[in-house]
Amino acid sequence: MAKKKKRKEKKESKKTEKTKKKKQEKKTGKKVKKKKKQEKKTETKGKKEKKGKKTKKKIEELIILGSGCAGMTAAIYAARADLEPLLLAGPEKGGQLIWTTKVENYPGFPEGIDGTKLTELFRKQAERFGTKVIDDKAVSFEAKKTYFNIGTEKESFKAKAVIIATGARAKMLGLKSEQKYFGRGVSTCASCDAYFFKGKDVVVVGGGDSACTEALFMAKLDINVTIIHRRDKLRASKIMQERVFKNKKIEMIWDSVVEEVLGDGTMVTGVKIKNVKTGKTKKIKCAAMFLAIGHKPNTEIFKDKIKMDNKGFIIAEDTKTNIKGVFAAGDVQDPVYKQAVTAAGSGCKAALEAEGYLAESKQ
Ligand code: NDP
Repeated sequence: MAKKKKRKEKKESKKTEKTKKKKQEKKTGKKVKKKKKQEKKTETKGKKEKKGKKTKKKIEELIILGSGCAGMTAAIYAARADLEPLLLAGPEKGGQLIWTTKVENYPGFPEGIDGTKLTELFRKQAERFGTKVIDDKAVSFEAKKTYFNIGTEKESFKAKAVIIATGARAKMLGLKSEQKYFGRGVSTCASCDAYFFKGKDVVVVGGGDSACTEALFMAKLDINVTIIHRRDKLRASKIMQERVFKNKKIEMIWDSVVEEVLGDGTMVTGVKIKNVKTGKTKKIKCAAMFLAIGHKPNTEIFKDKIKMDNKGFIIAEDTKTNIKGVFAAGDVQDPVYKQAVTAAGSGCKAALEAEGYLAESKQ
């Protein structure tokens, strides 16, 4: 009987133990679950924090937009001033120089230098001093209270100061043949390319000050110039018109437009023009066609945000725009000179101005 009792007691104790264990397990299970929940919570928090870090980008001291002469020179100066600039290279890495075969008017290269090579050297020099170059283009610009927001298609950046050096593109006629012979007789820059046509016949398209300046410049190089203008009056200033009309090496063709650029497959050999009043066409022999029909600044994203002239060039005083902390350098703010060396010069000015502005705003 005692044995039976003992067995019963043992059984009961086992049962209690089991229940306890179950309870314990349940408890532990809960605890584990709780732990898991906690872990999950911590994980989520961590992820959120990580995510937060991703979107919460640091505010750069200086962002430079554009990788032509102006942007890269600004970057060299800013980097050497320890501003660690971030440069968004834009759609045309190197700017307009990449379209030029040989650059012979940039100081320091007595034998001339390939345009693309020159832009590579600019970039190397800027990177050597700590410029971070990103091969992307700005698609949005927004001035916030204490910083500027620059958006690309993929991400956005913040900066305390911005240098706009997005350049300007020379207007083209829009002909297929003009594209085909670009850099092979078709040019948008007489001061860059005229030298190669010394003693030859060329045409200049346009009727403004640029067309006249380019024609006069080339006449001095013993080049026979024919200006083709779509109207019967020049747009250029009186003094330039007088100089052109007096020059024996310059001829005028009025009321005419270029319909086609003619070539031998390698170089330009002439142009086909049409008189817009009579409809008559004719061919003119020439070794080159210089386009001087104006420039379009790359300022679309700054429209209604930064002061511009009626052609879209940014209005800047010593590179300072109407927005504090935003500077403009190079062709984007230069409707007149548009040279590699003038762009580089204004890039330097913009960097010095930006450096001063950042130092001042820290005080
Ligand atoms: P402009 O806009 O003054 O002149 C462009 C010329 O190209 C106009 O004559 C225009 O004809 C013509 N044109 C435009 N589109 C076409 C087309 N699709 N087909 C044919 N012809 C076309 O540009 P510029 O580059 O000459 O001058 C820009 C600014 O720079 C001006 O303010 C100028 O005064 C200044 N400048 C000053 C210089 C100086 O002082 N030394 C030198 C160079 C420029 P249309 O007349 O019919 O509109």
